[in-house]
Amino acid sequence: MKLYNTLTRTKDEFVPNEPGKVSMYTCGPTVYHFAHIGNLRTYIMEDVLDKYLRYSGYEVKRVMNITDVGHLTSDADEGEDKMLKGAKREKKTVLEIAKFYTDAFFEDCKKLNIKTPEVVAPATQCIGEFIKVIKKLIEKDYAYEAGGNIYFDTSKLESYYVFNNFEEEDLQDGVREGVEKDSNKRNKADFVLWFTKSKFDDQELKWNSPWGVGYPGWHIECSCISMKHLGEKLDIHCGGIDNAFPHHTNEIAQSEAYLGHKWCNWWVHVLHLNTNSGKMSKSSGEFLTVSLLESKGYDPLVYRFFCMQSHYRKSLVFTYENLDNAKVAYDKLTSRIAQLDPKGGDVDEAAFASLKAGFVDALDNDLNTSLAVTSLYDVVKADTTDATKIALIEDFEKVLSLGLLEAAAKKREENAMANADPELIAKIEGLIAERTAAKKERNFARADEIRAILTDMGVILVDTKEGTTYKFA
Ligand code: AMP
Ligand code: ZN
Repeated sequence: MKLYNTLTRTKDEFVPNEPGKVSMYTCGPTVYHFAHIGNLRTYIMEDVLDKYLRYSGYEVKRVMNITDVGHLTSDADEGEDKMLKGAKREKKTVLEIAKFYTDAFFEDCKKLNIKTPEVVAPATQCIGEFIKVIKKLIEKDYAYEAGGNIYFDTSKLESYYVFNNFEEEDLQDGVREGVEKDSNKRNKADFVLWFTKSKFDDQELKWNSPWGVGYPGWHIECSCISMKHLGEKLDIHCGGIDNAFPHHTNEIAQSEAYLGHKWCNWWVHVLHLNTNSGKMSKSSGEFLTVSLLESKGYDPLVYRFFCMQSHYRKSLVFTYENLDNAKVAYDKLTSRIAQLDPKGGDVDEAAFASLKAGFVDALDNDLNTSLAVTSLYDVVKADTTDATKIALIEDFEKVLSLGLLEAAAKKREENAMANADPELIAKIEGLIAERTAAKKERNFARADEIRAILTDMGVILVDTKEGTTYKFA
């Protein structure tokens, strides 16, 4: 598989450190608000990469952090502390806020068929790891104390700007937009590893450390959580493109200074989802969520399909018109699949292999999901048996996870209901009522007999708390 690497700026043949095994790290969400659909674009595309590696035969171990503390990078960080702001806004503690939005994040992931990584690690549970690594960085003279905080000294590195060619003079103080000057720093690009003093002194969460009571900076958490669970050599590190600098640049600086050797081979960055008015951002407070799309009648999987139609290395513009186009395409595709007969012949192995090759070629070429979606259309149009087509869709869905077969089955049922003869419907409903009455009288033999009659008629009963409904087999 060829995979673009931000580090080499080329599409390179992917080779893991250990044959057959892949270690993969994903920057997780900052949990002071709901994830917006831009954040979720990144997680959808990372999910496709994770699943495609597994599909290609690799054993993948994936780790993700939860930023529930440590989102500050220097004392000059912008605006207000985001977790505290969230807590104040909702009159909750910081940990309550973190729990609420972590759960909300995973609910969104579930709706989008995004698999949960093998390890999910909240930063607040790894404080000991951060202290261990910071101590060693001080011992190795890569970190210094100033004004009560511990800073990483970027001047000690041979090369700091690994992803781009920034000149120090081009950078604003604190290397991020809208930040104030932090006079403790020796060099503009230095960043805080541990705070004991900051303008955000009303922090709820603080821990003892050799440098006084305080809390960690943001970058250190991903380095430490990754090394703790995935060891000293990492195959793939992913995140949205905004993370490349300074977050990932700083992760590399401190991890390699700590380890004394190269740390991660592949850096995979997903480009942003934008609106017509610019980048969608969590801190601006105005953003679109999965729940909002649902409330407007969109299936979350239509959003997944929308993301899949474009390449992860191109920025994507979100408009409702674009989403509507994706919805129309998704409905057409699932309607075509609904017309396939699951009992339609045998799987033709040769046709299966040649159509699968198209799908594999697309994803082997730097995860070209839009061509992978095209190969789904090639399958439905192909001159082969329905059984072959369904087997292929099932196979592709291990990676795409678009809920295509489920949506098609639902359509098939709806069609069967709409086309059913009214007399037949009346008969079925009569038998169901008789079965309900028999159950009430504890006449289970009769209830079972009626179920058998309905099964013979091709009717499947669905017992729910509200009563019994049915569908056609
Ligand atoms: P955050 O919760 O802000 O830490 O962001 C979670 C993930 O979403 C990170 O990998 C970010 O790089 C990514 N991200 C942030 N904004 C966008 C956007 N507009 N489009 C795509 N990904 C984004
Ligand atoms: Zn990170």
